[in-house]
Amino acid sequence: MSFDLILQNADVHDGLGNPPRRVDVGIVKDRIEALDDLSRATAPKVIDLTGHTLCPGFIDVHSHSDVYALVEPSAASKITQGVTTEVVGNCGASAAPLHGAYRLPADWGMHTCPGTWSTVAGYRALIDQVQPAVNIALLVGHNTLRAGVVGYEGRSATAAEMQQMKDRLHASLDEGAIGFSTGLIYIPGTFAPRTEVEELCRVLAAHDGIYTSHMRSEGAQLLEAIDETIGYGRVSGARVQISHLKTSGRENWHKIDAALDRIRDARDREGLEVAADRYPYVAACTDLDILLPDWALDDGHAAILARVRDADTRARMRAEMLAAREADYWASVTVGSTHHADTQRFKGMPLKQVAEQLGVEPVDAVFYVIEKDELKTTGIFFGMSEDNMWRILAEPYVMLGSDGSIHAPTGPLSHDHPHPRAYGSFPRYLRAVLDGKTVTLPEAIRKMTSLAASQFGFADRGVLARGYRADCIAFRRDRVQDHSDFVRPHQLSTGIELAVVNGVVTLRDGQPTGARAGHFIANH
Ligand SMILES: [Zn+2]
Repeated sequence: MSFDLILQNADVHDGLGNPPRRVDVGIVKDRIEALDDLSRATAPKVIDLTGHTLCPGFIDVHSHSDVYALVEPSAASKITQGVTTEVVGNCGASAAPLHGAYRLPADWGMHTCPGTWSTVAGYRALIDQVQPAVNIALLVGHNTLRAGVVGYEGRSATAAEMQQMKDRLHASLDEGAIGFSTGLIYIPGTFAPRTEVEELCRVLAAHDGIYTSHMRSEGAQLLEAIDETIGYGRVSGARVQISHLKTSGRENWHKIDAALDRIRDARDREGLEVAADRYPYVAACTDLDILLPDWALDDGHAAILARVRDADTRARMRAEMLAAREADYWASVTVGSTHHADTQRFKGMPLKQVAEQLGVEPVDAVFYVIEKDELKTTGIFFGMSEDNMWRILAEPYVMLGSDGSIHAPTGPLSHDHPHPRAYGSFPRYLRAVLDGKTVTLPEAIRKMTSLAASQFGFADRGVLARGYRADCIAFRRDRVQDHSDFVRPHQLSTGIELAVVNGVVTLRDGQPTGARAGHFIANH
């Protein structure tokens, strides 16, 4: 027997949750051809993995790397976590299709890409041309779709606009998108009535696509939002993924039992295909301007900025922001990425400290920074319970999703201040598993591989078995460790020693080989 690549002497986890076996893995081109004793077989490349654990490559089901995969195709922050496939286009925002008034989010739009696109087919072609180090699968963002047809106006779509959104979603799914995502806390998704999401989910279900949602609420209205999300699956028949499931805000931590009960009921009693993902951190990261009152976020970027700059409106917003939160709330917020030269020094700094340096109250520091940065500031929000995080992660239908984009310690994506989840989610979780803090290793690997593959429709990935794609990784149990933190985020994880993507050795001895063999993964 001869192969292109043999991986020998590792403890092999198949990704299905079975106990490990000591077998060799034989790869031909981009497929796994044999799991057996291959000591007599030959291959031009044989890698001895004595002392290593081998498993399918991890699937990051919740990523925002859409444009970053083109800007930094080495995918350094992801491949060093053992991630071999990313699902992009989450939370309602995707790189394609680009139409009408839709503009890429500021953090994507500021980078130069090695080509242009407007449709999903165009994006797909560019990904396959650039070949990032990891595979990319795309969800169509609802905000992207809606802004392209209705713009950023705060109103319902007309019948003609609704038809146009459905047609574009249909075309995008035909061109290879695997699903549809909503971000119902973000403009203009907030303006969509439920019937709009339902109709779009029906188009999706006809293509067997997956529906993912950054729900309308993750705190005060968490349970209502879970009901709404599950409801879309019930009426349309689409598979449903609750993105970054959490109980946000101390006053909502007690809702964990009711939240998990609702999901279990939907799965067990109704047989709905509802699942969720989570990153292993208790701080969230999003635009700092979400601290503004809801009404202040209407009508797009220019309108929001005008309100921030108008003294009377600002005073009204300020009063509402203070009234809506406890006095100690502000100590739980840290500034993330900033843009203006005057705000660079606040990157990664707790809001309280920013306020002290400016000699103002924390709420005024928010206004100062977002006005200077023209709303391009991100915030890191410490509002989650660690106990609830582990309870969520232990649920058998919950998979890992970093909610982070590709970064690298050098190059164009090394200058901002990302949440450490972008660099550390998978090794951080794996470390906790290896230290006995949560589920068993076979179960944890299943969550990061076959569970994710089946939920997102990757028929030939996520399992180490004959005929599957050769996406696999090997790690040293004693060395697995994340290093990125909130102060110094640009730190690669260690301990993932080998990554093979579509049969190509992409990481060896913990170092990127320079090879890039990722594909666009289409839904057919
Ligand atoms: Zn989100």
